[in-house]
Amino acid sequence: MNDEIFIEIKALRKKYGGIQAVNGLDFMVMKGDIFGFLGPNGAGKSTTIRMILSLIRPDSGLINIFRLPLVKNRKRILTDIGALVEEPRFYEYMSAYKNLEILGKLSGKRVGKKEIMNALSLTGLENRSGSPVKTFSHGMKQRLGIAQAIVHDPELLILDEPANGLDPRGMKDMREIILRLNQEYGKTILISSHILKEIELMANRMIIINKGEKVVEGNVHELLDAAKLDLRIEISDAAKALELLEKQYIKSDVWLESENHLVLKASKAEAPAINKSLVDAGFSVYSITPINSLEQYFLDNT
Ligand code: ATP
Repeated sequence: MNDEIFIEIKALRKKYGGIQAVNGLDFMVMKGDIFGFLGPNGAGKSTTIRMILSLIRPDSGLINIFRLPLVKNRKRILTDIGALVEEPRFYEYMSAYKNLEILGKLSGKRVGKKEIMNALSLTGLENRSGSPVKTFSHGMKQRLGIAQAIVHDPELLILDEPANGLDPRGMKDMREIILRLNQEYGKTILISSHILKEIELMANRMIIINKGEKVVEGNVHELLDAAKLDLRIEISDAAKALELLEKQYIKSDVWLESENHLVLKASKAEAPAINKSLVDAGFSVYSITPINSLEQYFLDNT
């Protein structure tokens, strides 16, 4: 794996009036990553992305992109970034092609017919290149937003909730485009979302933030595998059962969730043996359910 650092964020902070939107955030995006930037609504994702894109200024902290400080190399860095933030805006009465021609010029790179048609073809819009954007569905506009982000062939893509408002079909199309951009075209991609599943299907690494702070960061599969190791046990007298399990397992691996629920760090395969030992000790076990603590975290916070 190439460990070239594309984005380096350190102690990043931003306050809006009394709201600390981003509160001391640290993370890194490596070359070749699809980096999932996850968090419930209001977590601070868009604020962070806007700072990375130089649309707003941080109160403090460091942003290096392509190993260069953003503050001193804004123009050079932004030439090699493609972004889709919020709802993309287009000249509705102009064609998709004309829009990309105009927007491509703003990038500072040479964008000709070949580049425009390539971007349209990658996003499945080549047959509609001559149609006015006002005739496009929401999903097509989102894809045109991706075409706009890639038309100048940037190294790094930053996509803020690109699946927002899409139906399942549209989400799948978007996912396939993003994966292809990464796998076939080698683009490094930072993608924000409030849906864990969406990130799980695409990203190799991720960070989860809440209230402007990091909750967890790491390899997606490792994080989710580790998170799947919990069993929720619904049981009579959970406090007493806790005493028993604490003797059989590592003490910190078992905890009381409520009067009738325990959570134990163990895999599904261990459930029958756990059930037997609890039943043998005279407890009534009503259910044992494998839980994904990250999923649970998201259900609780979104
Ligand atoms: P969402 O998924 O809802 O867009 P988010 O994770 O992108 O959420 P942000 O949009 O960054 O979160 O918002 C973080 C916090 O900062 C929220 O409490 C939000 O209300 C606040 N906030 C964001 N932009 C502004 C602004 N321009 N003025 C005042 N408060 C703001």
